[in-house]
Amino acid sequence: MQYIKYSDISTCNKTISTQITGNLNLVSARYPVRMTEYYAGLIKHQDDPIWKQCMPDSRELEDDSQCPDPLQESALSPVPGLIHRYPDRVVLLVSNRCAVYCRFCMRKRLVGSGDEPMGEGGLHAALDYIAAHPAIHDVVLSGGDPLMLDDESLSKILTGLRAIPHVAIIRIGTRVPVTLPGRITRDLCSLLRKFHPLFINTHFNHPDEITAESGNACALLADSGIPLGNQTVLLRGVNDSVETMRKLMTGLLALRVRPYYLHQMDLVQGTAHFRTSVRTGLEIVRGLRGHVSGLAVPHYVIDLPGGKGKVAILPDDVKILGNMMQLRTYTGEQVLYEDITTPQE
Ligand SMILES: *Cc1c(COP(=O)(O)O)cnc(C)c1O
Ligand code: SF4
Repeated sequence: MQYIKYSDISTCNKTISTQITGNLNLVSARYPVRMTEYYAGLIKHQDDPIWKQCMPDSRELEDDSQCPDPLQESALSPVPGLIHRYPDRVVLLVSNRCAVYCRFCMRKRLVGSGDEPMGEGGLHAALDYIAAHPAIHDVVLSGGDPLMLDDESLSKILTGLRAIPHVAIIRIGTRVPVTLPGRITRDLCSLLRKFHPLFINTHFNHPDEITAESGNACALLADSGIPLGNQTVLLRGVNDSVETMRKLMTGLLALRVRPYYLHQMDLVQGTAHFRTSVRTGLEIVRGLRGHVSGLAVPHYVIDLPGGKGKVAILPDDVKILGNMMQLRTYTGEQVLYEDITTPQE
């Protein structure tokens, strides 16, 4: 991918080691470090929200209580690189590379590792599986980052999927608009638009990631008719305040990116120092709903361990008292609301 300007990774590691001391090499030996010049340029000072997301931290190695794969994605993979948890949709792990390796990644066990989740043979096996299961209507390309593949490989995968009549929706999950916005080229957009209905979920976590460059990447995608969503991970010390989340979610909406999920951090080994309580998440959702455009309010979800799926949770604003409901408004007022009585009751 010559057209992509990466900062040289060795330079990048050198920069880090001059700035942090300690067992950083041990961290990067276990969990790879990678940066783009662009993303590193968003760092304003040590330990700011961008720094925390991309710079290795010795605490990654101290967290041995948790499991590398709590969602049991491997167990739910009928063929390598394909996760089939819900009846009608699957996730395809088409790349294990990312422009930046986020320190809180839920697929920390996979990203940046040597073996590709999906080579040529793996792709055929996955496509055969999808073709043999007519219940699958929605395929999510993930990884790693699917947009780290070159246009030709991406085109091959999308063409394969579009050849399967029961695949109605294709989605791509990518953080490239945030970490390597230059990858969103006009060529890439003309390729993607051939495969509609195609949705992209991107991954912004902090208002500092909203820049002219990332905004332009989103505009190119949106102008190609691609509905854009966003998945944010709730991260301690990065975005765990109402003020930051309001700014992030309303900022995204202005880029035509619709906030989709706010994720409670998965219980993934090596990420414990980023985890907030669920109460914090609920307070943030309460600080959004009614206070900012409803279009800017994501679903707050916990992806349950054991691969049991995502559950959306809401602040406790509804009390059901027989036929009456006591509802809490965004200003905190308690209002009674009478439900209708259906004939059979
Ligand atoms: C999140 C996820 C999906 C997609 O779920 P939606 O709620 O439809 O966005 C599908 N499969 C797996 C394994 C997932 O983790
Ligand atoms: S871009 Fe996504 S898959 Fe890649 S390291 Fe970050 S969170 Fe993980």
